[in-house]
Order: sequence, then structure tokens, then C-alpha cells
Amino acid sequence: MKVKRVRKAKKNLSFYINCYKFRKPFQVLIDGTFCHAALQNKTNINEQLPKYCQAEVKLLTTTCVISEIEKLGHELYGALMVLKKFGLHKCPHGKTPTSGAKCLLSMVGDNNPSRYIVATQDLRLQTKLKNLPGVPVMYLHGPAPILAPPSEADKERAQATVKVSTSVHEETLKELKESLEKTGELPPTISKPTGEFVKVKRKKGPNPLSCKKKQKKPALTQPTQNSGKVRKRKRVKIPAHIKEALKQTTQK
Ligand SMILES: [Zn+2]
Repeated sequence: MKVKRVRKAKKNLSFYINCYKFRKPFQVLIDGTFCHAALQNKTNINEQLPKYCQAEVKLLTTTCVISEIEKLGHELYGALMVLKKFGLHKCPHGKTPTSGAKCLLSMVGDNNPSRYIVATQDLRLQTKLKNLPGVPVMYLHGPAPILAPPSEADKERAQATVKVSTSVHEETLKELKESLEKTGELPPTISKPTGEFVKVKRKKGPNPLSCKKKQKKPALTQPTQNSGKVRKRKRVKIPAHIKEALKQTTQK
């Protein structure tokens, strides 16, 4: 089960890496509800989150999240202590703190430019975040951290961007072809790419080619050794003077 969970996390994280340019170390914005749940389930956030993500992770929070938990009093003292150990990222609220949920939403903004993963047990906040583009949501299922799979909207957006980029490439290729046809440079354009391919093959090829040559040489000589005719021809190639000299020496 653990392996499956980590595999799913890797798959989901790679989606955000490929489609939304997430990079390691991952930045995880954590709120009080997540910390509280972690304490209740005896989950060590510092240990479990990097393990789960299989990467270095920056654990972060905001002053608004901390002040909200402070206000909630003694019951959440443990969660407060955990939160205070995390890195503080500046939020736009300054001296007039707002609720943790509002603060985290403002940190993510319209398109999550800082590429935060948001860790929260707040279901309302989770659904709001999932509706935004490129915001991975993490929560605890019992003691186990889970990264929610990307939303359908996120997947559609990613597919759309891929389609746009490929269509742009196709158009530029078409334009190139057309312009070359007009100038009558199409034959060289055909030879150019093939030349490039040959170059690539040459770069990759020297070792296999040299090996092949070595293999071919014995393969060629073996049949010649078997057929005596070729051998005789080789002997004929020996200069006449040397032959005579040899004959003389043997006669003597
Ligand atoms: Zn704030």
C-alpha cells in the first residue's frame, strides 16, 4: 500500500512538474488544520512529507495562519508549536491578519506563481484550491499524507497547451516548406535534413561501425581462404624479379 501511495504521488507530482513547472525542492504551504491532524495521528510532518514526495520539501506557513491558531487557544497549542518551526513566507496582510484560508488563497493567487503545494484538512479551502489552475492539494488520510490528483480542469488545460504548442510547430514547418518551394530551394532542403541525420549517425556510429569493419574483415577473408582461386591471384601479384630470385635461391 505504501509503495502504491508513493507511486501515485510521483505520478501526480510529475504532472505538476511537466505542466506547471514545479521544481524541487517543493514548497508546501501548511495550515493549522493540517498540523492539528498530524499531531492527532502522530504524523511527523518533517519526516513524512519528504518521504512521500521523494524529494526535498520546504515546509512553509504564513503569519496569518499562525495568528489564527494562536487565537483558537490552548487546544491548538501543539499545532501552533509545529507551525512555528516552519519557514515563514510573507503574505500581503501584514499587521492586519486574515483567516488562514483567505491568506493561503491570496498566496496562491490566480495561477500559483510561487508553485506552492497547499497542505490543509479544510475541505472548503481544498475545493476552492482545486478550482484554480496548477495548485496541488495535500491532506492527511489518517496518518498518511495524500496528494490529491490534478483536477479534470487542470488536465484539460494541460492538454490544450500541448495542442497549441504542436499546432504552432506544424504551422511554422508549413510556412518554411512553402517559402522554400517558392524560391525553388526544395531539393537542397531535402538533402539538408538527410545530411543532418547522417551527421547524427556518424556521431553515434564510430564505435559500432569500427566494430563491424573488424567483423567484416575475417568474414571476407574466410571465403577467400576457402576458394583457392583468389589465393593464386594474390601469388601472381608477386613481382617477377622476386620470383626469379626466389627460384634461384631454391635451385641453389
Ligand atoms: Zn496573510
